[in-house]
Amino acid sequence: MGTSPNLWFEMKQKGKHIVQFINYQVKQKKMATGFALFSAAICVGVSPEYTSAEELAQVHHIYFDQNYVTTVHSLELYDQIIQQEIDAAKRLNPDYEFTLANQVKIVEETTLFSNLNEEAATEAIKEAANIEAVTRQIVVNDKVIANLKTDADLQAAIKAFTAKFIEDENDNLSFEGNVIFRDGTAAVEEIVTASEAVNAMREPIEKVQYYTVKEGDIFGIIANSNGLTIKELSELNGDVDPEAILSIGQKLKITKETPSVTVVVRRTIKESESIPYEVEYRENDKMDKGETKVVQEGSNGARFVTYDLVLKNGEITWKKEVSEQVTKEPVKKIVEKGTKVNPSRGTGQLIWPAGGYVSSEYGYRWGKLHKGIDLAGSGMVRAADHGVVSYAGDAGDGYGNKIIIDHNNGLRTLYAHLASIDVSVGQIVGQGQHIGVKGSTGYSTGIHLHFEVHVNGAAVNPRSYL
Ligand SMILES: [Zn+2]
Repeated sequence: MGTSPNLWFEMKQKGKHIVQFINYQVKQKKMATGFALFSAAICVGVSPEYTSAEELAQVHHIYFDQNYVTTVHSLELYDQIIQQEIDAAKRLNPDYEFTLANQVKIVEETTLFSNLNEEAATEAIKEAANIEAVTRQIVVNDKVIANLKTDADLQAAIKAFTAKFIEDENDNLSFEGNVIFRDGTAAVEEIVTASEAVNAMREPIEKVQYYTVKEGDIFGIIANSNGLTIKELSELNGDVDPEAILSIGQKLKITKETPSVTVVVRRTIKESESIPYEVEYRENDKMDKGETKVVQEGSNGARFVTYDLVLKNGEITWKKEVSEQVTKEPVKKIVEKGTKVNPSRGTGQLIWPAGGYVSSEYGYRWGKLHKGIDLAGSGMVRAADHGVVSYAGDAGDGYGNKIIIDHNNGLRTLYAHLASIDVSVGQIVGQGQHIGVKGSTGYSTGIHLHFEVHVNGAAVNPRSYL
């Protein structure tokens, strides 16, 4: 290994030398990237009283990566060795450019001692020299994740990786966090293709962490104990129903799969949106209560909105409306609502016209339609809804004393077998108003009320309106 650092140290101690650090740059004309390998130039420890031309010789101490390698008389020899090593590597892999990957420091010394072994020095340099291919590197958080042969390969990898996130030629593209593209070196076998580099960029920066369900665990508590909201835990585990019972041993993701490189896209978009119309209600005291009338149809408006977006790996993480242009104003819908209470018009919601249990339902009985329901027992009979009495009397049709009330809304009600009728035709009656007394007139086998409801002339099951 040539002159040992210890010997050099001893020589310095004797003070019979001149040491100076020199600027030195390895001749690497073929290098594409041009590494600057030099140390600072300073002059130290000049002792002129010991110097004389015959006695003194110049030597160069060579350091690779802060480690002493050897000492040589001639830097030309050193250059030749390095160039030979580069040429040898190039012969093996002609498609690549090579360089010395070590950080080099050369210290020049003028000394009295100069018995150097050139053969040993050559071997030491060859052994210590790390000749690597010149690359373009992708570095994430100070870690080299890919070495590519050329800048074209690097650009192809970046383009392939970002392609799916770019939609618009005006998209502003950047990378989140500490992502650097730089010159570097690597062993040939470590150099990857553009598509391998894309995979490296997609590789999660951290492995996804899982939680294993234990007895008694519930979704909310698992979320809480892992610093997540239920919503976040459920988003990480899209296939798991937070309401369902978890099974022991089941694995839940508790961290997100974040790719090594996050693509941030800033984009401005323009969207046309509809402006929904409003509905305004106006009271109208000329219209019956419960009635409505559309006096003006509504129509949606339209607007053109400009949004600023930030997308991370294709997901919108920020959206802000920056301007809008209304292209069509909405037209509100105006609805009139009647407020006039009409005492002769029914509400449509009937009340039970009498007490007593239902002794017979509406429906077929002995092959014949029973067109109403029978309410057993004696008692008062009330109007089932507001209306006008349209019949009151005995028509000899088997109903006995009957009252028919027209509710002026398509409904009529009929009350039969009455003992007495206490209203007359044309009289306006309110809902619940007393109109007669239950009896057993007409074809009847006992005191009860037979009650029918007619819709536009046809008997229907009263229970549908009660
Ligand atoms: Zn009946």
